[in-house]
Amino acid sequence: MSKERVGLYPGTFDPITNGHMDIILRGTRIVDTLIVGVAVNAGKGPLFPIEDRMAMVREEVDSATDAETAKRVVVRTFDGLLIDYAKRNGVTAIVRGLRAVSDFEYEFQMASMNRKLDPSIEIAFLMASDKYHFISSRFVKEIGALGGDISHFVSEGVAKRLLARYAQGEKVLAGAASKAY
Ligand code: ADP
Repeated sequence: MSKERVGLYPGTFDPITNGHMDIILRGTRIVDTLIVGVAVNAGKGPLFPIEDRMAMVREEVDSATDAETAKRVVVRTFDGLLIDYAKRNGVTAIVRGLRAVSDFEYEFQMASMNRKLDPSIEIAFLMASDKYHFISSRFVKEIGALGGDISHFVSEGVAKRLLARYAQGEKVLAGAASKAY
């Protein structure tokens, strides 16, 4: 019997976009189990806490797939060295999305270094679909913060959470300002 193919799709997912979802759905076609590894990665200063980022991934996967596929997608936090996490969890392939030439340079370097650390773990790149290749969490957050329409880039649920998060942020800022005076 052939070995179970376990994929790991790592990222910040701050928040999950339609582009990430496309990679997740396509990923489930090439592996048996797909672990979506949500990086704790406090260094990058995510807008959403890890629990919210994970909850959004779970909600999106559950609403976009049938129950059988949803069961094959496991959402986990991950911290530390990617390749160590992959080894500990029996991962056979790391799945990444490639949007543009700008992604390539970074991804190529990271893939080459990871291959040196453990050549037995394959790294599979899925080319971004032309419908989603321009979407990045960073720009979604910037457009959302300025009141722009983000409905083409994220689901309705994620858009709502983003607006709620900004409203919360304003309250925190307003609270801090009132304390300062
Ligand atoms: P971002 O770069 O949007 O902040 P992440 O750090 O969470 O997202 O990226 C995780 C992975 O998802 C990376 O491999 C990245 O190239 C890929 N990815 C992000 N956005 C898209 C997209 N729109 N289409 C395809 N892949 C994407």
